[in-house]
Amino acid sequence: MLEQQHSNLCKDFDLPKHSRAQIAQDAAKAAGRFMMVLPGTALRYFSRDEVLLQDHVWQDNVEIRLGCGLARRLHEGTTCGCGMSPDQCGNSQQFFDHILGCASGTNGAVYDRHQLLQPVFKPFFEKLGYKWDVADSSLQFSVALHSVAMAHVEGGEPQDPGKKKLDAVAHCREDSRKTLDIDFSCVHAASKSYCVTEKACSVADSPTFATRQAEEGKLKKYVHLCAIRGHILLPIVLNTYGGFGDEIVKIVNKHFDAKRAEEKATTGQEWVALAERELLFQRAGVAVARGNSAILDTLRHTWSKGGTNRRQAKDPNKLAADDFLAGLDLFSAADVAQVVRSKGF
Ligand SMILES: [Zn+2]
Repeated sequence: MLEQQHSNLCKDFDLPKHSRAQIAQDAAKAAGRFMMVLPGTALRYFSRDEVLLQDHVWQDNVEIRLGCGLARRLHEGTTCGCGMSPDQCGNSQQFFDHILGCASGTNGAVYDRHQLLQPVFKPFFEKLGYKWDVADSSLQFSVALHSVAMAHVEGGEPQDPGKKKLDAVAHCREDSRKTLDIDFSCVHAASKSYCVTEKACSVADSPTFATRQAEEGKLKKYVHLCAIRGHILLPIVLNTYGGFGDEIVKIVNKHFDAKRAEEKATTGQEWVALAERELLFQRAGVAVARGNSAILDTLRHTWSKGGTNRRQAKDPNKLAADDFLAGLDLFSAADVAQVVRSKGF
């Protein structure tokens, strides 16, 4: 019945496109799992920081997932770092849909969000037997490699690889041709750039429309470079609701389907494998949710002009989840607003 309602909502053409895209794509595999974390179960396997969200982060993300207004995040003169205001966007929901996908206005927080996936997927790939490698020399594409790649492109001139860089390399110990070059990405399905076509909102093409677009973009950008160095490119793309893209779902399913079959054959049940898969989805969802709130923290308000919300460190290695938590704990935007108003600024 719920599925029927969901599908009816996606076909309700009275709803704006971005709302339908959101409804369609928050049904992606693993989306919304941050809401399902049961502390009693999760804390047996992970530390609090890995799986539990602060109240305001939880609230932000429930509102993002349900498409609510996030009104408590709007104050006097609130704008995105790029200058976009809620008035320019039409309504507050569209404003937040802009923020969550704005790479230029959020002081690197969009980049930090996908870096938070690093500690989630490292243990997963290590369990699969890969050696996880984040050394700079492994992640960068050298000028020489780039020249070779460009030579294969008709009329291509050797180019400076510039800032092109992977996020991790998962080395296959048995066969280096199976080594995975990994690139993380987190996309906001209801961002304007993803909602330009009806496909973003249609049941048949969703719920992985936005993640698929991002995967295709990554393939275009990197696949030849990875192939020349003898590796396979794996774009790990999640959406802002925690939904997994097709490429990573394929690997997750393959691993856990085998585990379930093995468990079923030996014990007659498959609960352990199912619980492990659920915990992976929950941890990833929690990481994305934290990243979403960190992005909302970069919003500018009349009283914050001058950059009080500017992020200090841009080095992703220094931005572990703990740092985010420490930063978020200091003041909430509402606290600051209250102080400013009471002082009559
Ligand atoms: Zn912006």
